[in-house]
Amino acid sequence: MRLAPTDEQTALAERLRELGATALGGDLEERERSRTLQPGDWQRCADAGVFALPVPKEYGGLGLDPLTCALALEGLGRGCRDNGLLIAAGAHLWAVELPLLLFGTEEQKRRHLPALVDGSSIGAHAITEAGSGSDALSLSAVARREGDHYVLNGGKRFITNAPVAGLFIVYATVNPELGFTGVTAFLVDRDTPGLTVESGFEKTGLRTAPWGEIVLRECRVPVANRLGAEKQGSRILATAMAWERSLILAPLLGTMQRQIDECTRYARSREQFGSIIGRFPSVSHSVVGMQIRLEAARLLTYRAAWDLGRGDTGSVFPEAAQLETSESAVQTFLDAVQLYGGLGYTTATDAERNLRDALGTRISSGTSDMQRKVMADKLGLTVRARHTADGRHTP
Ligand SMILES: Cc1cc2nc3c(=O)[nH]c(=O)nc-3n(C[C@H](O)[C@H](O)[C@H](O)COP(=O)(O)OP(=O)(O)OC[C@H]3O[C@@H](n4cnc5c(N)ncnc54)[C@H](O)[C@@H]3O)c2cc1C
Repeated sequence: MRLAPTDEQTALAERLRELGATALGGDLEERERSRTLQPGDWQRCADAGVFALPVPKEYGGLGLDPLTCALALEGLGRGCRDNGLLIAAGAHLWAVELPLLLFGTEEQKRRHLPALVDGSSIGAHAITEAGSGSDALSLSAVARREGDHYVLNGGKRFITNAPVAGLFIVYATVNPELGFTGVTAFLVDRDTPGLTVESGFEKTGLRTAPWGEIVLRECRVPVANRLGAEKQGSRILATAMAWERSLILAPLLGTMQRQIDECTRYARSREQFGSIIGRFPSVSHSVVGMQIRLEAARLLTYRAAWDLGRGDTGSVFPEAAQLETSESAVQTFLDAVQLYGGLGYTTATDAERNLRDALGTRISSGTSDMQRKVMADKLGLTVRARHTADGRHTP
């Protein structure tokens, strides 16, 4: 088993780290206040191949395997301070490009993927509604078939990239009585009459990742824009979530490493009681804990990516990676705030913003409770027990 990246993987990660450190995240503090994504940054990511990573060459991509994508994005996160940009890019890559690639028709892929890759179109994935969050497939948005169109009605909320997206993957049911089996996915262009985007709630963190609410009122979508088969939505969502949970937080591994490096520098330079604070075991052990958590999250992410590359659809590692990375990030940034003392409670370091940003990652792509629930389901722990004739319980 080889745990070291290849020279090519190292070079790609380093190139994206450099991009992140030198060309992305400008005006971050100002854009945090105005809650805006920097369009120039999006384009610079596209030009550097970020949105091309997993997409095959015939659609303008680089066709890289999931593990290489994870390493590349970790490098990007190591350099880039704008976590909102990174999460917006992740939603675009894993919840839009990937399902389009895996379930789209040839015509749909040729129509949308090149523009998603070259940065001229941004993707958004819309499933969450006011009444259905963790239980996403209990949604109420309806798709009524009328000849060669579906007519969509409903509302979606918390949709990352909605204010800037050109393409939405919208989930709706073709028959509310069918429950999750009626859910179907649609590719909806932004300029489709009947689709409007509203601003919605203000976020605690990840403020530079724009999000919003979608209202669908008699929104007519051609049958040719259905993604996958009718009633295949639950499978498409499960597949998209496996990719998203494996890879959307890969940049956060890089962010954590940068935070640890900064904390280490600070602990070696700040003096109290005639000593650098790093000599106090409570401080040094706090940094050691950060590094151990990061290594665990990193290995789980690599394993999830590896399983994706092997086509292992039953793997529990996508959820394990999402859970461990998001929970580790929150604890690490909380510890970083403490390590900086009074400074940590100001905006002078990145720790408080990183903490606010990381809190969102324990909810997006499913809450931590849901990661545990899906893992329990995959491990066969939640199968209903049946009673045999002689009174025994069987799975
Ligand atoms: C930063 C961010 C970005 C997002 N981007 C998108 C996006 O692009 N597209 C999109 O469609 N959605 C998006 N969402 C929405 C996100 O997917 C939902 O917020 C999430 O799935 C939780 O749903 P909810 O908010 O309705 O909470 P609820 O489902 O109401 O959960 C409330 C609480 O109950 C707990 N809970 C619920 N069910 C169970 C259970 N069975 N067992 C144990 N505990 C349970 C939850 O863990 C949580 O603590 C985003 C959210 C965030 C924070």
